[in-house]
Amino acid sequence: MRIGFYGAAGEVTGSRHLLEAEGLRILLDCGLFQGHRRDAIEKNRRTPFDPKAVDAVLLSHAHVDHCGSLPILVKGGFAGPVHCTEATADLTGLMLADSAHLQESDAQFFNKIHQRRGDAERIEPLYTQEDAKAAAARLRPHPYASWVALNERVRFRFLNAGHVLGSAMIEVEARTAKGVRRLLFTGDLGRRHTLLMDPPEPPRSVDWLLTESTYGGRSHEAIVDVEPIMKRVIDRACAEKGKVLIPSFALERTQEILFIFDKMMREGQIPRIPVYVDSPMAVSITEIFDRHLDSVSFSDEFKQYVAKEGDPFELKCVRYVRSVDESKSLNDLPGPMVILSASGMCEGGRILHHLRNNLDKETTTILIVGYQAEGTLGRRLEEGAEKVKIFGLEHRVWARVETVHTFSAHADRGDLLWFIGALEPRPRRIFLVHGEPSARAALAEGLKAAGIERVSAPAYAETVDLV
Ligand SMILES: [Zn+2]
Repeated sequence: MRIGFYGAAGEVTGSRHLLEAEGLRILLDCGLFQGHRRDAIEKNRRTPFDPKAVDAVLLSHAHVDHCGSLPILVKGGFAGPVHCTEATADLTGLMLADSAHLQESDAQFFNKIHQRRGDAERIEPLYTQEDAKAAAARLRPHPYASWVALNERVRFRFLNAGHVLGSAMIEVEARTAKGVRRLLFTGDLGRRHTLLMDPPEPPRSVDWLLTESTYGGRSHEAIVDVEPIMKRVIDRACAEKGKVLIPSFALERTQEILFIFDKMMREGQIPRIPVYVDSPMAVSITEIFDRHLDSVSFSDEFKQYVAKEGDPFELKCVRYVRSVDESKSLNDLPGPMVILSASGMCEGGRILHHLRNNLDKETTTILIVGYQAEGTLGRRLEEGAEKVKIFGLEHRVWARVETVHTFSAHADRGDLLWFIGALEPRPRRIFLVHGEPSARAALAEGLKAAGIERVSAPAYAETVDLV
């Protein structure tokens, strides 16, 4: 057996690893590289192995940095199945279509600007809606935990990863001349304690572990702290008839926040004020959540809540907004109200219009619920900027900005050390992927301190014989 690392090696996007086992070439994830335009385009266009020679893709979950390169693989001649869980199949179709739409509009905008300037620079979209559809047609959904044979000697199964709906760890088992060998790829790993998800359980007898290490050097705050902050924000909005704007990514965060509001409203902690989900993508994803409320991904606690209280995403006071006109009409409505809208870092989407119209009001609260990367509007607001630019125009910030760090779909340092430490017997070798160099180094150090050795941080395109 042999493994090659063709993405998420020393970085956190482009998850893609090629496993060779008993005559098969199996691609673990097929993610898109994200980052500065030129670097990302270059990396995404190049497939450093022959797509036609890949027998199957095993997909850990539906985030685009794990599945967003599938249309490129299919365009390159890959004609095999893409195995994934049932919820991941539903979500991936949607995520690929959205990604294609972004690629197309991005290329169009880029070309228009350069044409206007009279230069010849043009870019082609990485892939189109048609390409996304062709890739989605290869998805093969499977239930969790059931083994699927790839040939007579190699099989795999999906185990709950607790990261997002449908997310899975992938266990590949091969009957080699030396005996049965197992490789576990964590994909993205969830936290031990979250609002919705069931935590991942460390499986037994893993020979080789490929684990993510995104937060190998950081600890998250406890989940219990979130309700008092939400209560303070909503009480204030009610007292001042203000609007609460929540920039939120469409997958998971939006549904977690709806769940918190549903719970707090039912318990009478906060009044039932209108909550608008103003993002067509988030609306579609919430519909997929509704179809999979019994998924293995969800915690028992969440399932019991659903059994007792009903669908938490059908809050009586939630309005799902798809049309642009309805989105605009929210401007004229008085508070108190909550508006959840994408993008999560305020770099595009409808949230920009809500910010533009409400930043200058003292009664507005911007509630930051996700990581804000350097250089984004979300980060500037989080850092307390007094003035910001939106669509090239300057706006004074009179709104209050609050941050909740509790929501993270990723395991933190403590969670990762716990998970890896609980693998019995110890894996022969551990590969740290999906982490910046400093996070990988910090996790490797923590593992060493816990007496866990044979830990590697592979480089891009490095291949390793699994012996
Ligand atoms: Zn993910």
